[in-house]
Amino acid sequence: MSWPVLFLGVTVNVVAVLMSVALVCFARAATNAIGRRPGFAAWLNRAVSAIGSSVMPPKDMPTKCPAQAEPPSLDGGCACGAIRYRMLDLPMFVHCCHCTRCQRETGGPFAHHAMIEFTRFKILQGEPDFVLVPTDSGGKHWVARCPSCRTAMWNEHGTRRAVTRYVRVGTLDTPDALPPQAHIYTRSKQSWLVLAAEIPAYRAYYDAAKAWPEASLARFRLAKAARAAEPGGATRRTAAKSRT
Ligand SMILES: [Zn+2]
Ligand SMILES: [Zn+2]
Repeated sequence: MSWPVLFLGVTVNVVAVLMSVALVCFARAATNAIGRRPGFAAWLNRAVSAIGSSVMPPKDMPTKCPAQAEPPSLDGGCACGAIRYRMLDLPMFVHCCHCTRCQRETGGPFAHHAMIEFTRFKILQGEPDFVLVPTDSGGKHWVARCPSCRTAMWNEHGTRRAVTRYVRVGTLDTPDALPPQAHIYTRSKQSWLVLAAEIPAYRAYYDAAKAWPEASLARFRLAKAARAAEPGGATRRTAAKSRT
């Protein structure tokens, strides 16, 4: 299409819209003027509505974008339903750990952990048992299990006053909502497993100060300060220090 033809087409469209608007305004004025003749006024009103709806946006059409949606609550629980929990925010970070300890603990090729502050996690129902499990680094962590069906739902590393909950993503109601942002301990990854090239992979552990987004590090610092301010004192833990 040549430029003159295109310009002519645009001009004709603009003129048509302007004429329609003018006609609507004129017809509304006429409606007011002849209000004493109900039959004709009703017909004119219908005509005005028909024309108006073709050129005017509906009154209920939103004039601005809706507000940013709140982050979703992520609920999960055990296999029998006795324990239910909620992540009140998206996690600070999600990683898959391919260490041999995680493989043994989970019975799978890796552990899939979503890390969230204790302040943004709550138990909705039930009371888990906390089982003490040794780690490869010589430490220990607490695993929250259902007292009935024994499903493991999250870890608390080093102490029950840990800042971070390591939620086992497979126990969420929407386990595919949290894909990993990193793979760690890939030196012991099962050989048949092929990882996506675009996700950072570390042969051992990562430095959270470099691997985590700054916003997540800030969240962790806030939660750590909140923990330290509680009766019982400070914690020495840093973000994602534990090797799981
Ligand atoms: Zn259960
Ligand atoms: Zn691990």
